[in-house]
Amino acid sequence: MIKANYPVTKFEAIRTPFYYYDLEVLRRTLQEINHLTETDPFEVHYALKANVNPEVLKTIRDAGLGADCVSGGEVKAALDAGIPASKIVFAGVGKADWEIKLGLENDIFCFNVESIPELEVINELAIGQGKTAQVALRINPNVSANTHHYITTGLNENKFGINLSELDKVTAIVKQLSNIRLIGIHFHIGSQITDLAPFQDLCVKVNEIQEHFEANGIVLENVNVGGGLGINYEHPNHFPIPEFEAYFKIFREHLTLRPGQKLHFELGRAIVAQCGSLISRVLYVKEGTSKKFAILDAGFTELIRPALYQAYHRIENLSSELPEEEYDVVGPICESSDVFAKAYQMNGTHRGDLIALRSAGAYGEIMASQYNLRALPVAYTSDQLL
Ligand SMILES: *Cc1c(COP(=O)(O)O)cnc(C)c1O
Repeated sequence: MIKANYPVTKFEAIRTPFYYYDLEVLRRTLQEINHLTETDPFEVHYALKANVNPEVLKTIRDAGLGADCVSGGEVKAALDAGIPASKIVFAGVGKADWEIKLGLENDIFCFNVESIPELEVINELAIGQGKTAQVALRINPNVSANTHHYITTGLNENKFGINLSELDKVTAIVKQLSNIRLIGIHFHIGSQITDLAPFQDLCVKVNEIQEHFEANGIVLENVNVGGGLGINYEHPNHFPIPEFEAYFKIFREHLTLRPGQKLHFELGRAIVAQCGSLISRVLYVKEGTSKKFAILDAGFTELIRPALYQAYHRIENLSSELPEEEYDVVGPICESSDVFAKAYQMNGTHRGDLIALRSAGAYGEIMASQYNLRALPVAYTSDQLL
């Protein structure tokens, strides 16, 4: 079995479980993004909700990316990491007053607005601060992303965004709000999208919507197509960097930008997933009646994606080169859903072996909980373990 090139002897001395971030993989990913977008009017914002580890954030800031935030806490984390307010966009269906105020106080670039009542509240709070809020309308394009139903967001039945049928009404209201400036339109169709066709569908929809706005005398400065580019969870060693080239090409070729218009992206998973692993130790190998269980010291409290979305993470035994055998790889939490993988082929496994759950850099550490009164996981970077 091919495995990650990790400093296993260093790992031996560290208490498990912990997250490990390979910053070289992250830097190469960021270089690739910057290289592929440098000649286009493209601006990439990192979706902080995927991972806010301070070292990871610093590396992303150093590469010059903007930030996509979905809470006041994330706006604060982006500012604290030194990402300029002029590169921060703020989305979310339920922004609280304090979160909107925080964005206004710091003059963030744009609020991605999801409803009429939200527009009215932002206007009121902006009047209170004597400011003008820049907003983009988050439009629900009714594009199917062919991904897990918990992570598709762009269909009419989802709670997100403004439906196309309501667009004219919303635009008319925006015109009447004194302290709102409409600077763009925003979309986000889902997550872990590996078949790129839905992005092409999105481009077609964006073109139609742009023509509709123009016909009504409205030219917008910004189009934001959100995030959602998927990664290869099966083969992180062969495909550490997602298909950015094909992804950006779709937008370059199929989305018609107007002169001076900027195209914004909000990528989370595609930027950070492959640089991270959850490192755990085998506590026990237990023989069941018909199967073997490898019981780890990490569970869904550290990495909830398998329990929450039946997500697949590649599992590598970093300590063993023994012939492969089949295991149910499980955690120690008192819930039957605390399973990382069933009937999984892994090198012969014993108590004390180090296990890497790969591609865990996105929606891993940030979703950790203290259930069963467990400690939140710590994290190390490749720079720290050099
Ligand atoms: C979650 C989210 C993203 C990032 O999604 P990824 O699948 O991680 O790229 C981007 N934009 C918005 C509005 C989001 O909610």
